Amino acid sequence: MAQEAAIEKIEATENQKVKISIIPRYCKGCEICVKLCPKQVLGMEMFKVKVNDIDLCIACGACELRCPDFAIFIEKK
Ligand code: SF4
Ligand code: SF4
Repeated sequence: MAQEAAIEKIEATENQKVKISIIPRYCKGCEICVKLCPKQVLGMEMFKVKVNDIDLCIACGACELRCPDFAIFIEKK
């Protein structure tokens, strides 16, 4: 019997300074992170958050802190 995958699919985008991880299944498209991001790093596509330009990210963590669904994570390098 095949077991359902326990690990959620994560979409990671990174550069030398920061890694942004998104779990699309958790994202309900509320746009809180998009509106809070001070650098317009994030955008929406098909009602899910996506990274528009990671090179603008200052790793402030506001998106991760304010996401109500734990769908986005920041890792500062
Ligand atoms: S860490 Fe800050 S700058 Fe980077 S995507 Fe999140 S809110 Fe925007
Ligand atoms: S705040 Fe969270 S749930 Fe809302 S759009 Fe951003 S990642 Fe998705």
